[in-house]
Amino acid sequence: MEETFNAEMERRLLELRKEILESIAAEDEDFRAMINAMGIKDLGDVASDDITSKKMEALNLHAANRLKSVEAALTRLKNDRYGVCLQCGKKIPEERLRAIPYAVLCVECKSIEEGTKRRSW
Ligand SMILES: [Zn+2]
Repeated sequence: MEETFNAEMERRLLELRKEILESIAAEDEDFRAMINAMGIKDLGDVASDDITSKKMEALNLHAANRLKSVEAALTRLKNDRYGVCLQCGKKIPEERLRAIPYAVLCVECKSIEEGTKRRSW
């Protein structure tokens, strides 16, 4: 049976999540200690509740933000809201999601958002 698009994206998001956690663990001794203290052997098994705690604040900010985006995308998959632009409600093209599985904005809204950010600097 062929994998559905959402199933494919879920698998990729879970892989991405594990990669991010591994990269944090590689850099961050405190994070490793926390994982060890929780008795977690496989980083893929880390529950989001465990890491969205205050410990997150201490983590590498860039990685933490990516992780949040991935978590949000996984939640949206569960709620059947995946692939819908947060801003305008249009469907995000599959090729964009394949490139960035945790994208929440369509290309148009994303470029508007980035434009706004640049102006507000
Ligand atoms: Zn949009």
